Amino acid sequence: MTRAIVIGSGMAGLTAAAHLAMDGCQVKVFEQAGHIGGVTATFERDGFRWDIGPMILEGFGPGEPVDRILKRMGLGGRLTLSRHERGLHFPDYAVTRPEEYGGPDWRVKRLKELFPHEAANIDRFYVFLRRSFDLITLDRYAAVADSAGAIPLKLGMLPLFLGVKKYVHWNARQLMDHFFTDEKLKIFFLVILVDMTLLTDEYPALGVPFSNQETYFDRRVPPHRPYGIGPKGITLHAVEGGCGEIVKLMEEAVVSRGGSFHVNSTVERILVEGDRAVGVRLAGGEEHRADLAFASGDARHCFFNMIGRERLPREFAEKIDDIPLMESVFMVHLGVDMDVTPWQDTPVHYHYNIYDIDAEVSRMRSGLYHKGKSGFLIYIPSLHSPQMAPPGKHAVTVYTVAPNRIEGGWDSRKGEMIDTIVDEAEVKIPGLRKHTVTRWAITPKDFGILTHMREHHSFGGFRPVINKTGAPHRTPYRGLWFIGCQSESGPGVWTQIISARSVFKKARRDL
Ligand SMILES: Cc1cc2nc3c(=O)[nH]c(=O)nc-3n(C[C@H](O)[C@H](O)[C@H](O)COP(=O)(O)OP(=O)(O)OC[C@H]3O[C@@H](n4cnc5c(N)ncnc54)[C@H](O)[C@@H]3O)c2cc1C
Repeated sequence: MTRAIVIGSGMAGLTAAAHLAMDGCQVKVFEQAGHIGGVTATFERDGFRWDIGPMILEGFGPGEPVDRILKRMGLGGRLTLSRHERGLHFPDYAVTRPEEYGGPDWRVKRLKELFPHEAANIDRFYVFLRRSFDLITLDRYAAVADSAGAIPLKLGMLPLFLGVKKYVHWNARQLMDHFFTDEKLKIFFLVILVDMTLLTDEYPALGVPFSNQETYFDRRVPPHRPYGIGPKGITLHAVEGGCGEIVKLMEEAVVSRGGSFHVNSTVERILVEGDRAVGVRLAGGEEHRADLAFASGDARHCFFNMIGRERLPREFAEKIDDIPLMESVFMVHLGVDMDVTPWQDTPVHYHYNIYDIDAEVSRMRSGLYHKGKSGFLIYIPSLHSPQMAPPGKHAVTVYTVAPNRIEGGWDSRKGEMIDTIVDEAEVKIPGLRKHTVTRWAITPKDFGILTHMREHHSFGGFRPVINKTGAPHRTPYRGLWFIGCQSESGPGVWTQIISARSVFKKARRDL
């Protein structure tokens, strides 16, 4: 029987562990934290429940790529999902789901009302966007199809790709300058870069459509099918009861097949002999041998501390040095005894108080935290899952991207930061402070401890900069694979599920 070890029980580690267990391997998952799931975790306090990491999931809808994987794992239909959507607010306008549905193109109409001088450019841009959405759809389904199933999808991608090929080497700033003149409209399509701490000329032009899909902004927008017959476009979903429900499913898939989880178990060393990985040593000194190992988490720590820079080929070590990482987040969870719906009646709203993305990103990267003044996100999970708060109350999460280190340190400034960010959120939901019955906060330092990214916690993982990538899945050691959000797969829950599964398949072939 193949012995497999998985380091880290986030969504990447869990997916790998479940596939290994289903394949008949003897699996041990080592997790340094006291719970499994990594940042995919739902916590409870005083009758309220909040997600501490992912909240909005792509590709989980019926028939979509993750749903297909879960079905193949025998876990299909086990999550209760509801369609999700984002509201966007800027200093002087908002684009939020209208009460009365205005058809799939309502955002186009709204943008033309707001920017009438750009009407023709908006039409031109949407030709590019729609082609790109279809391309993304086919690409995502091809990633989970078997080789025969992938052929028609890839053939379908070809004409779509030829239509956007000229933008392949462009950056996001060039793309926006090509289509629009109004700076505010350019920012509308790029604003997510602030959260990824990416400069506008660092992000690939063809990345822009990913965060601007029409289905993401109104749950009533039907997913489009490429050529009218292709698989349906990707949508956003929330999991009833919180994302921790996904962790429970994956855990069951591992444990029911004899796999085991070991929490509070830090892997300190990956044991290598010759060109093979042969096991791990835990912080207490205990050694576990294995034929296969999957590592996730902090790429630099994994390769430089758990193996050793001197044991790595120079080129590989340089690749690891070169991985750009996102910043962390500062998150405040509130339990409130008020009705929030007069101010926010859908679960997620992004509030951006800036129009200069590059200036904000540069400040953040140099450790200057805006404390919510440049923007924040308000997430109210009890709006899609009433059981996440006691009757008549709401669970509210307010958070922003935040630098790992700030002057004075996070521990000593935590209280001040909570007050400032709640004051900012209070402007959007009056009464929030007065009606708070419980609250707790997670600083970047706390996130670093929780995920074993003590040097630099990165909330999404590797920052998608043009011509850069995360750590390769295939490592210089046979039998050792690197997965997770700092790997070449990049950030996001669905990305971890899709890519950990395909790395597992490669690893089995290689064994
Ligand atoms: C606040 C926040 C909001 C987000 N929002 C979304 C969202 O809405 N939608 C979305 O798709 N994605 C979102 N993301 C990103 C997404 O959650 C991550 O990309 C993904 O969950 C990462 O999974 P992972 O397995 O790579 O890492 P993690 O979840 O960080 O898991 C890695 C695990 O490995 C463990 N570990 C590391 N080193 C060791 C070691 N040496 N020994 C033992 N254990 C170890 C860590 O303790 C951790 O539990 C969000 C992330 C955050 C933090």
